[in-house]
Amino acid sequence: MQPEQVIRELRPLLPGALIATDFDGTLAPIVADPEKSRPIPGAVDTLAALATRGARVGVVTGRDAQTVVRLGGLDAVPGVVVEGLYGLEQWQAGSVSSPEVPAVIEQLRRTLASWLSDQQADEGVLVEDKRLSLVVHTRPAADPAGAQQRLRAPAEQLAARLGIELHPGRNVLEFRLPGYDKGGALRRLFELTGPTAVLYAGDDVGDLPAFAVIGDLRAGGTPAWSVAAVSAELPELAGAADVLVDGPAGVVSLLRALV
Ligand SMILES: [Mg+2]
Repeated sequence: MQPEQVIRELRPLLPGALIATDFDGTLAPIVADPEKSRPIPGAVDTLAALATRGARVGVVTGRDAQTVVRLGGLDAVPGVVVEGLYGLEQWQAGSVSSPEVPAVIEQLRRTLASWLSDQQADEGVLVEDKRLSLVVHTRPAADPAGAQQRLRAPAEQLAARLGIELHPGRNVLEFRLPGYDKGGALRRLFELTGPTAVLYAGDDVGDLPAFAVIGDLRAGGTPAWSVAAVSAELPELAGAADVLVDGPAGVVSLLRALV
């Protein structure tokens, strides 16, 4: 499907629609240091304009909600709801609801650095502490894909031993609590907002469960579209979404055309 068709069909339904989007790789270009991630110029203004025209805006991210609100300046978007850590926590109107850190994550936090050195992980590989999950980033390594591949099987074993999940992404291996994904987060936003129509945009394998929910909603009679911000790194994502656009610039230009 072409972006123009989505724009044509969704525009009249915009008041009361749910516009949900991932953050990294979808609103913000992927960068080596996750702390330096920022939305592209115009992204937040566009989300705010959508909200002003009566849409509900949701941001669904694997990062913790407060970090993404801070990095993105998302508090400028009226009524925005941020589902952080794949729906483990929610940020809305300046307050966040987030669970306590379970013992298993504390245990992993204490042991992950020495585990990585036991695995002789490539130079540059680093751990991002997301409080309720821990992410091994291989992007800074000389060979990010190779470094990830070498760590993947032992990381899966470690996760299985702890009773948690290992989720691979774009040059990341994330240790997560079981039972949360972006599909569940999108479904909660749907139930919260009761929308006239739904659009979800994402760029990574972590967004696939949300794309699947879009398909389910459409089968249930709600106008719904999934948008993949495709990148050279993950061409296989292309087949999973209704519409393909070129990275964050493509996402923002589609959203801007709705307002
Ligand atoms: Mg992403």
